[in-house]
Amino acid sequence: MLTTDIILTWIHDFDKKISEKKDYLSELDTPIGDGDHGNNLARGAEAIEAALNKETPADATAALRAIAMALVSKVGGASGALYGTAFLEMAKTSRDTTKTADLLAAGLAGLQKRGGATTGEKTMIDVWAPVVTATKGGQLTQKIIDDAVAATKPMRATKGRASYVGDSSIGHLDPGAVSSGYLFTSLLEAGG
Ligand code: ADP
Ligand code: MG
Ligand code: MG
Repeated sequence: MLTTDIILTWIHDFDKKISEKKDYLSELDTPIGDGDHGNNLARGAEAIEAALNKETPADATAALRAIAMALVSKVGGASGALYGTAFLEMAKTSRDTTKTADLLAAGLAGLQKRGGATTGEKTMIDVWAPVVTATKGGQLTQKIIDDAVAATKPMRATKGRASYVGDSSIGHLDPGAVSSGYLFTSLLEAGG
């Protein structure tokens, strides 16, 4: 169940992880991208904090919407549109249900519609999809998250900027998969 309190705890923790791991995320994006993933998300994390401090969201929908808007307007790059869409879809679905599995499934559907990627293409989808499956079964664990992130390393990218380097993308973790891993670790820690 994603209550407003859990969403706020979740996202504050995610924002903290992103600012701590900013340089690492941009380093991961350097050999297979343009080296900006950590900087992109850190701008988003600051914008989320500013938005939530300015106005305390009245309910779960307002919280998810404020997060989405901050991400879309401040992150830029592929990940801004993608994470923004995922949170916007979660916000819409939260009018009908606050079940974690349903909200994350709506987020994943939004990501896939927006980015056109499926599993095995070395993107954040490779973390979102197994997390949604595990959450539906009621058993998301840290190991499931960590294994999904690690599984992107041997993959060859066929979507996003990493696909431009072809076979050279093999052997590197996907930066968006790593940041999504932080997102779901924060969710677990928040009790969502
Ligand atoms: P940009 O590539 O525009 O610089 P970022 O570096 O912030 O954007 O984000 C890159 C991440 O976005 C990748 O590591 C990958 O996880 C994710 N990504 C890129 N394209 C897609 C896509 N089509 N579907 C899902 N995720 C994607
Ligand atoms: Mg990048
Ligand atoms: Mg970029």
